[in-house]
Amino acid sequence: MQLEYNIYFELSAAIFMMLLILYVRLQFNIENERNRLFFRMGVFLLIADILDVITAITISNGDVILPGINIWLNTAYFISNGLLSFFFLDYSLQLNGKNGERKRANVIEKGVLALYIVLILINVHCGWIFTFNENGEYVHGPIYLIVYVVPYLYFTISAVYIVQSMKYYDVKQKWSIVLYIVLSMSGVVLQIVWFPNVLLNIFMIALGFVVILFSLETPEYQKLIKTMEELKVANEKAQAANEAKSHFLARMSHEIRTPINAVLGMDEMILRESTEPQILEYAKNIDTAGNTLLTLINDILDLSKIESGKMELYPAPYDVTEMIQKIRLLIQPKVDEKKLSFYIECDSSMPQKLCGDELRIRQMIINLLTNAVKYTKEGSVTLRMKWKKEDEENITFLASVEDTGIGISQENQAKLFTSFERVDEKTVHNIEGTGLGLSITKQMAELMDGTIGVYSTPGEGSLFYVEIPQKVVSWGAIGVDSIKVEKQKKRKEYHEKFHAPQAKILVVDDVPINLTVMKNLLKATMVSIDTATSGAECLEMCKEQAYDLILLDHMMPEMDGVETLKHLKKDGYLLNSGVPVIMLTANAINGAEEEYKEVGFDGYVSKPATGETLENMLIEFLPKNLIQYEDEN
Ligand code: ADP
Repeated sequence: MQLEYNIYFELSAAIFMMLLILYVRLQFNIENERNRLFFRMGVFLLIADILDVITAITISNGDVILPGINIWLNTAYFISNGLLSFFFLDYSLQLNGKNGERKRANVIEKGVLALYIVLILINVHCGWIFTFNENGEYVHGPIYLIVYVVPYLYFTISAVYIVQSMKYYDVKQKWSIVLYIVLSMSGVVLQIVWFPNVLLNIFMIALGFVVILFSLETPEYQKLIKTMEELKVANEKAQAANEAKSHFLARMSHEIRTPINAVLGMDEMILRESTEPQILEYAKNIDTAGNTLLTLINDILDLSKIESGKMELYPAPYDVTEMIQKIRLLIQPKVDEKKLSFYIECDSSMPQKLCGDELRIRQMIINLLTNAVKYTKEGSVTLRMKWKKEDEENITFLASVEDTGIGISQENQAKLFTSFERVDEKTVHNIEGTGLGLSITKQMAELMDGTIGVYSTPGEGSLFYVEIPQKVVSWGAIGVDSIKVEKQKKRKEYHEKFHAPQAKILVVDDVPINLTVMKNLLKATMVSIDTATSGAECLEMCKEQAYDLILLDHMMPEMDGVETLKHLKKDGYLLNSGVPVIMLTANAINGAEEEYKEVGFDGYVSKPATGETLENMLIEFLPKNLIQYEDEN
């Protein structure tokens, strides 16, 4: 067998590449992207190398090789060469990606490869690049250089990417990279210039491969990859567990709301109807405890919303004075009960109308005030509100709550804002609390791009503050009169607001006790109430009877409230076309109202609903001519 070329370099490369590929396959975690690219590069090096050796042999023995075979063998060789250099580029892009993140070859880089492969394939017919003459001799075509230019181009771009990635490596690795570039790029030059008949192009690239293997893809790096993979899996598991927890909390708080609805509703009936002082006292206690439980459920719901990233803000214009009054109304009874003094100091120049999520801001301030009252035995609680102009439209709103209570030590201050964390358990164990309030307040403040902080001295008291950016709707100041003390009224004696004996409404809820509560709460208004325990039953009843209003529960088995509404609107229940449909649900998250209105509900009442809320809702939605007020009777 005669040979026109010296193939011993390429043959030795084939042998050590086989061993190296075997080593990489056994030692490396091929799931890892960078390892996979490195392995793929090695495999194509071997393929190109073997094809180079084979074509060297077949070209030298053109006379004995079947016509047509050589051209296809060479075509395969050049394609594998193109792919090999492209995979080098792909691997260098991976090295270039920060923190192991993968960069992709761009359109031009991919396009050049596609064009190269197409040209090589076309060459089989037209011989622009290379061909074999009638004697079976290898002949260069007019654009022969393309088989050097394209791989060389890729190696050059790879070198640029690798140089860019130098900053991630230490000195030894940097020199290895330089060596790798020099080796892999010098093969072609050496082959053309010095040894026209010695094949060593792929041999040099394979040397570059070895350098990279022992400098960058070291066993230490493989260990690091393994640890990183393990961390990723652990992190994913932790995230899944956290999501499951949030989901569970959201579901539980929804489920717990339903029975509380029944307890508070029934209790309200006792408060309305009983005249026995002792029974009224019991019922009041149930009412207080029930409402505390409700606050707790709301906190858990909020926390799960925040943690699952579903808490959204609903900014709207609001009146600062009104917000302060609402806060006072809620806090004053608690302060009075503990015989503390309560001061509100509000900067009288504060713009009266701001834009923000008033409900959430109120919730944050109330959380701080409730804590101040809870953790103060004697003395006072002071709410201060200040502001700072930022620009023509924005201010920073600052609310602080100061108390003369037990205070918090320096070391405990750091733990304050963590969920379920109660500091100084020994002192506070007899004070009701879950350790959720401050964590929620902090996360809400952050959601609003604000901050929360604390100054405290044990035994002397604490000062908590929140600072949040707010938009100004009007710069008119609130003035000094706006925060006059309003004496808290005692629980009003219940009296229905209206009668509507002609009105007929339908209440739909799958929990029978909720239907009883609803009937009782509205008993005094004399509204006639039909009930249904499923969406299907509701639709059935709407075929037979015209209603003035329908109250629909959301979560019901089989057909839920939203679906029932869709049928009601779509399926031509003529008797009830245009009837107002109100969503009555334990889904009390902020923003739920907007969502329900979007799907077509006319109104929204959250459970547990008080008699007053229900009556107000009826006044709004029942036909006016059906409502009789007391003085009209
Ligand atoms: P909770 O009050 O339900 O326990 P929070 O998250 O609101 O939960 O508060 C966390 C902890 O911070 C409380 O358990 C209490 O130890 C401490 N704390 C909060 N506010 C005050 C305050 N004004 N004075 C003293 N300690 C406080």
